[in-house]
Amino acid sequence: MLTVRIGIDDTDSNEGMCTTYIGAVICDKLKDQGFNLTPYPKLVRLNPNWPLKTRGNCAISIEVTYNPSTFRELKEIVLKTVEQLAELKHASTNPGVVFYLGKSIPSELQKFSRKVIQGIVRIEDAERLAKKIGAEYHKFKLGRGIIGALAAIGESFELDSTYELLAYRKKSYRGTKRNIDINSVIEMDRKTYPRTFDNIDPNTGENRITPHTPCPILFGIRSQDPESTLEALSIIKSNEPIERLIIYKTNQATDAHLISTKIKDLKPLNSAIISGKVSETPRIIIGGHIIFSLSDSTGEINCAAYEPTREFRKIIVNLKIGDRVKVYGAVKKKKNIPLTLNLEKIEVQNLAEIYMKKNPICMNCSKRAKSKGKGQGYRCEKCGKVFPPGSEKYVRKSRDLRIGSYEVPPRARRHLAKPLIRISPSK
Ligand code: ATP
Repeated sequence: MLTVRIGIDDTDSNEGMCTTYIGAVICDKLKDQGFNLTPYPKLVRLNPNWPLKTRGNCAISIEVTYNPSTFRELKEIVLKTVEQLAELKHASTNPGVVFYLGKSIPSELQKFSRKVIQGIVRIEDAERLAKKIGAEYHKFKLGRGIIGALAAIGESFELDSTYELLAYRKKSYRGTKRNIDINSVIEMDRKTYPRTFDNIDPNTGENRITPHTPCPILFGIRSQDPESTLEALSIIKSNEPIERLIIYKTNQATDAHLISTKIKDLKPLNSAIISGKVSETPRIIIGGHIIFSLSDSTGEINCAAYEPTREFRKIIVNLKIGDRVKVYGAVKKKKNIPLTLNLEKIEVQNLAEIYMKKNPICMNCSKRAKSKGKGQGYRCEKCGKVFPPGSEKYVRKSRDLRIGSYEVPPRARRHLAKPLIRISPSK
């Protein structure tokens, strides 16, 4: 028996389809034909800042053991399914399929995968690598999907991984409003959180397991382990039939997109972790977004908490100059504005001491004296008593912020961002 790793990407458009669905159909067809699939197929999220993504920038990979005489049949199932289901009519859909027959995943393919998750690569680089490692690739139209297809094969989840169970809708239901019993989602969350996570937005009570796009996904359950997704599934009540199910192993919720770096080395379209000090007080701009400046020894950057991050902004607005923080987020370059980091999480490590100046109190009149002007001391307005410069006191102000970690709510969270509950489950 031999092993083949299959990578697939770029099959969908804004109007429908989803690469994870095509992966699920292929898995079912292969199983029906007697092929042996290695658990679990992979759902790999790629650079969330990549401008040409359709939605969540994901690619998938399936590992199959097969008898050499059936390889042609296997390939035909995969390629025919992609050809039939991919949104090929759509200009921006450019599928790529890769078959890799090597015994293990080569280190250069793992490195390539990291680069597609954290940075930007060119299609020529993908083709060159595929040829070098002997991977067979199939390009539909421009075939840009071979980038993600290779990256999905190359991801080996060395540091961290999670699982997602995806339930798909029957064709006749796609495009209509999803009909899931919200009380069953609440119950599922109560019984399985934090083994499953991001089910309900804690601030709005919103159901987060159903997407709002015209794609075939009915709902998705994110989890630490595959067993908990099945337990959650048994609790959810769906008022529409489920066409099929799949459990993917994934890099979602692992922070795999983030690079720890200094401000001078930030590049647009990367996602970064930076330690520094608040260097400009947060300001609220039109639309309810909050911006502050952060400095380290190499430079300064804007950090932004946008309106959809809702309650998270209440933390950000309380930052003061001198606070020591670690910020996590996407680096964006906008016209005529310095580089901005769109916050996903923040760790407030140390709070600056803020003092309030208090003028001296006149003992005779029990009233605070008035300043006579900068450096000229104070005078009691009632009795005229004079106080020399320096007789004022400085009182430490209490802060409306605590040391600790804070994150944007699930509704504003990127697929790759690691929720705090996964970092510190006791919270
Ligand atoms: P969905 O998540 O709904 O399946 P999508 O958001 O994954 O869709 P695609 O339609 O797959 O979007 O389009 C993304 C395209 O960009 C793919 O062809 C993929 O190979 C390519 N791509 C993804 N990440 C990068 C990257 N970091 N550098 C260069 N190309 C990339």
